[in-house]
Amino acid sequence: MSGQVHDLFVIGGGINGCGIARDAVGRGYSVALAEMNDFASGTSSGATKLIHGGLRYLEHYEFRLVRESLMEREILWAMAPHIIWPMRFVLPYHKGGIRPAWLIRLGLFLYDHLGGRKLLPPTRVLDMRRDPAGKPLKSLFSKAFEYSDGWVDDARMVVLNARDAADKGALIMPRTKVVSARRENGVWAIESVDTVTGETRHFQARMLVNAAGPWVDHVIRAAFGQNEARHVRLVQGSHIVVKKKFSDPRAYFFQNPDNRIIFAIPYEQDFTLIGTTDRDYKADPRDVKISDEETTYLCKAASEYFNEPVRPEDIVWTYSAVRPLFDDGASKAQEATRDYVLKLEGEGAQAPLLNVFGGKLTTYRRLSEHALEKIGAAIGIKGIPWTAKSHLPGGDFPATGYEAEVRKLKSGYPFLAETHVRRLVRRYGTKAAVLLGQARGIEDLGRLFGSDLYEAEVRYLIEHEWATHADDVLWRRTKEGLRLTREQAAMLEEYMAAVPARIAV
Ligand SMILES: Cc1cc2nc3c(=O)[nH]c(=O)nc-3n(C[C@H](O)[C@H](O)[C@H](O)COP(=O)(O)OP(=O)(O)OC[C@H]3O[C@@H](n4cnc5c(N)ncnc54)[C@H](O)[C@@H]3O)c2cc1C
Repeated sequence: MSGQVHDLFVIGGGINGCGIARDAVGRGYSVALAEMNDFASGTSSGATKLIHGGLRYLEHYEFRLVRESLMEREILWAMAPHIIWPMRFVLPYHKGGIRPAWLIRLGLFLYDHLGGRKLLPPTRVLDMRRDPAGKPLKSLFSKAFEYSDGWVDDARMVVLNARDAADKGALIMPRTKVVSARRENGVWAIESVDTVTGETRHFQARMLVNAAGPWVDHVIRAAFGQNEARHVRLVQGSHIVVKKKFSDPRAYFFQNPDNRIIFAIPYEQDFTLIGTTDRDYKADPRDVKISDEETTYLCKAASEYFNEPVRPEDIVWTYSAVRPLFDDGASKAQEATRDYVLKLEGEGAQAPLLNVFGGKLTTYRRLSEHALEKIGAAIGIKGIPWTAKSHLPGGDFPATGYEAEVRKLKSGYPFLAETHVRRLVRRYGTKAAVLLGQARGIEDLGRLFGSDLYEAEVRYLIEHEWATHADDVLWRRTKEGLRLTREQAAMLEEYMAAVPARIAV
């Protein structure tokens, strides 16, 4: 034990834990955060990756959540224009369809006018017989609505929050599992285990934040011994990735006969992402994976719309995650609230605990601000809200400035292929130049692992973003896993195991 008493100790390195840690350290609190695996290795890398108001939630009267989410779209876009960008969604419909046109029109009217939309274009109606968006779809869908939302690289948003928190002085510890937390003499005594070395460490903190996502009840039960804790409803959602089904940059919003919806989204240049499902989940969140039934469901639902059916053999990758939804007693998984709930236990002298239930990627910044209000009330206010006008690392350029950044990087590094430059700006924004450093030719980027993944990028991820395994690089810091072969991934793992340099904090 160092003897230091932190103001806050955060359990969980998903979007909510990292968002709270960043906000808190930026206000002047001393903060430590423990993540038992890699950042975003839980739910926060398994989302549909939309920064969205949640059109569907209007049907469940979640107006507070939809309004807050709509307001956040442009704030987050301006905060991180490298990893977040606007996307148009095409919602095809036909007479006698699942929902009447007037209802969709009303929903989209609210969506456009509930607030926060300044740069994003409004809804319009498409004639699908003429519009290119109609081309890959069955001719039954002669009309569509087109509306705005946003896209985010979910796992990168998490690690950039962690990075910024560390840059501002937080103690950020991946691969560190909290195994117990007890109140002792008015502070929390926390015990953690390094999941790589098995080393035990002890910390003290005035306040504890439990942002363990799907494990939030597990932490309450295991760490605090409250055996009856049951606050979250675990709802599995799975996605499939297939070779590009359409070349249009817009995404599709498909309504299914069971009243659910799925998206088909342009993904990583050469692919289409299709998802998601919604079903209650009872097993360990770590073991979640797509079932045959979900695969069939997604293929069938998308094939109702596309001219060319989506077949299981077209699938190149799948991923699955568990939503930690606050259990509001809804009968169906798809109806359980997507809003978040923050529960504070104890006052300053009793060492308070804040449990975080639910939440979305889209609302993480506001959730963090609300958490900071509760933290301030419990252990004393420090600082003021600051994140709305901030930038995540690499995001310090104008919201609409992506093309200008691409041109800038290209002129600094003319030996790079156009696709490579575009990918680097999308992943790293202004930090791409840090990654490339003094390179004057492609050979200066070191060993090529496959696709356009060079040693310089891997080194950057090891030194600046806590990457220690090939999966951290291939599936969370980037999505190069879609392009590397199994042998290339194995070589990357071998290389990473041998690199002694670790995070430069
Ligand atoms: C299928 C699906 C689609 C979604 N789509 C969207 C979308 O399009 N847009 C949107 O806004 N939201 C979406 N969401 C919601 C969003 O992804 C989640 O709400 C969010 O990622 C939850 O983040 P979290 O930080 O609470 O949990 P997590 O990301 O799971 O983080 C919790 C972390 O705590 C760690 N942990 C647990 N126990 C311990 C311990 N004892 N010690 C240390 N660490 C511990 C875990 O390893 C984990 O990394 C989607 C969710 C799903 C499942």
